[in-house]
Amino acid sequence: MADDKKKRNKKKKRGNGNKKKMTTEQSEAFKSVTDWLFVGFSSPSRSSSSDDFSVTINSSSLRCGEKLVFELHSHSNRSDGFLSPSKLVERAYNNGVKVLSLTDHDTMAGIPEAVEAGRRFGVKIIPGIEISTLFGSRDSGSEEPVHILAYYGTSGPAMYDELEDFLVKIRDGRFVRGREMVLKLNKLKIPLKWEHVTRIAGKDVAPGRMHVARALLEAGYVENLRQAFTKYLHDGGPAYATGSEPMAEEAVKLICKTGGVAVLAHPWALKNHVGVIRRLKDAGLHGVEVYRSDGKLEGLSLSPSLVPSLSYYLSIWVH
Ligand SMILES: [Zn+2]
Repeated sequence: MADDKKKRNKKKKRGNGNKKKMTTEQSEAFKSVTDWLFVGFSSPSRSSSSDDFSVTINSSSLRCGEKLVFELHSHSNRSDGFLSPSKLVERAYNNGVKVLSLTDHDTMAGIPEAVEAGRRFGVKIIPGIEISTLFGSRDSGSEEPVHILAYYGTSGPAMYDELEDFLVKIRDGRFVRGREMVLKLNKLKIPLKWEHVTRIAGKDVAPGRMHVARALLEAGYVENLRQAFTKYLHDGGPAYATGSEPMAEEAVKLICKTGGVAVLAHPWALKNHVGVIRRLKDAGLHGVEVYRSDGKLEGLSLSPSLVPSLSYYLSIWVH
């Protein structure tokens, strides 16, 4: 599916996130998504569930002057979000989102529910994941957490079992990691209970830092979530721990192999995003996230030699 898209390059429009008319980023994402809409429709492996993906959005379905709003990075309570997948879709719908990708951390468990809700609300759902990985710096030998977004066509990933095995390992690692963070907090004389964290995460949900942060807040050890991160849980922080994340290149390659579009999430959080992008591009990375969660366009200083070689810049609108 990605072959023809890979050939397409685009120029990045410098601007301050003009929301009035469709930006170059939006038109590109629009083009990509309209392609996505039909991916898999002719696949012989498709079951009779083709109705699941029957929401079709194209330029003619928009009223004059109406914006096509994409939200391509979102989390439900299947990972560390607050809303169920269907509530999330409902909220996106109420905020005018026409195309929504559910990108829960290391799981696609919420996708069927999101697709079902998307059908009810007329919101196009792009099956996605945000994969937790590590990036090893060749210079310093240190490792840094890197999140890779994966977007799939309407029929989901090819070789689903292989992808799921990969994700199971990461999710199992999240339990080990969560316990370690609690242990570290206990050593710092914060008697947080592991059960509190798993209760917040919910049944069958692999715990993450956000769940630990919420438990800390609920138990009154911090004043707000931000403080939980700045004091204890930030990368390399006193209660930080890693799980069993794969290397970033490995994840990008697997996303490509399973027919997905691989996009680097929040590159502005990285120490050296240019180095990361350069290496991941060699592994097959298609694009980078450019809108922060406040909807502002991040002024990433991407070098001209790097920019045209990426196929996409994703416009992420959060409302
Ligand atoms: Zn992330």
